[in-house]
Amino acid sequence: MNELSVSRPNNLDAYWMPYSDNRYFKANPRMIARAEGMSYFTPDGREILDGTAGLWCCNAGHGRREIKEAIQQQAAILDYAPTFQLGHPIAFEAAARVAEITPDGMDKVFFTNSGSESADTALKIALAYHKARGDSSRVRLIGRERGYHGVGFGGMSVGGIGGNRKQFGALLPYVDHLPHTHGLAENLFSKGLPEHGAQLADALENLVALHGAETIAAVMVEPVAGSTGVLVPPKGYLERLRAICDKYGILLIFDEVITGFGRLGTNFGAERLGVTPDIMTMAKGLTNAAVPMGAVAVKNSVYAAIVEGAPGGIELFHGYTYSGHPLAAAAAIATMEVHRAEDLPGRALAIEPYWQEAAHSLRAAPNVVDIRDCGLTAGIELAPRAGKPGQRAMEVFRRCFDDGVLIRVTGDIIALSPPLIVEKPHVDRLIGTLEAAIRAEAA
Ligand code: PLP
Repeated sequence: MNELSVSRPNNLDAYWMPYSDNRYFKANPRMIARAEGMSYFTPDGREILDGTAGLWCCNAGHGRREIKEAIQQQAAILDYAPTFQLGHPIAFEAAARVAEITPDGMDKVFFTNSGSESADTALKIALAYHKARGDSSRVRLIGRERGYHGVGFGGMSVGGIGGNRKQFGALLPYVDHLPHTHGLAENLFSKGLPEHGAQLADALENLVALHGAETIAAVMVEPVAGSTGVLVPPKGYLERLRAICDKYGILLIFDEVITGFGRLGTNFGAERLGVTPDIMTMAKGLTNAAVPMGAVAVKNSVYAAIVEGAPGGIELFHGYTYSGHPLAAAAAIATMEVHRAEDLPGRALAIEPYWQEAAHSLRAAPNVVDIRDCGLTAGIELAPRAGKPGQRAMEVFRRCFDDGVLIRVTGDIIALSPPLIVEKPHVDRLIGTLEAAIRAEAA
């Protein structure tokens, strides 16, 4: 293994790290040099249990031989070929494999390179759909407070995170937001889907009354909002959104970048939560993050309106140089094969009750004000330190890392999402180390 040459860089200056406190990191670097199974390893060989599947993406665990070999083999056959007006077999094969696991009637798949690109692609497809049907006034996009749809201008604008928007000023026009689904006192410490709050979906009726249904193209939500701290939809909420969208001819987009590929114990969140969208984004677990890739699956009727209804020539003026990249397509096929062969969604579902009990055992720890879970996710919310939001959770993060466990924090919420190959002893170690860190921080 050529580990040392890359794991001990001499110069940390040049790399502008994304979404990071660059100055803090470069003064206190925490490096990951290697990964295998449930574990990361630091350059000096210290093992770190991965409680976050990287960034919610290495669902099959790290260093999967099958995926690595598929990428290597494909690289030896075809490094790259365009997919604009040309084709290479493996992109078609990858799309067919994705279509096998998407909900019935969602058999058309567009490839991107990331979740952000998938979000913007989905929004553009929704606009193109209405235009193709002669409904050109439908240009309004509805997101949700605390929604995260990546960092492109579409996803950033439809997303509902102030911190991600304020720095840039210029946002898409014709965007509005539903209220988020979190915060009802009666839902605190709910296990799985909360009982209360389906009526929050009726806010869409208010937006229809405000703007007119004839101006609204699509509503985009995450089935379970991950990045802002595991916000689980109340029972009946997504059904109600679906019904209102149907009533007014509005497309429903699920951003499944986190909830896809087994995270909720099913291939997609749509299946787990029993609601089928019109358009679905994905990325992350699609290739187990071994090579960047995203995708957008659409209902056949959406594809038909845009593609089959077009007069001829290019039907959708959209695509990326690397759409359907051969190495990514090979990684995706191999990843989906691992998921099928090892029934990773089923495995996640089987361990979910143990996971849920373990996560909720943290209720007894100091400063814990809420715990949420669905599938193999958990959000543990801490009371912020007075006047210093985020600091408490960040200290817990640092303590966990130093004690050999990787967690993720967003504000004062700890978000957990282990690889789906997690076993009970891993769960015990993850939650035990986290509890000790929460207690130590409070001491
Ligand atoms: N959408 C959702 C729901 C996400 O959670 C993320 C990333 O966490 C994205 C989109 C953006 O994905 P990427 O970082 O691959 O652009």
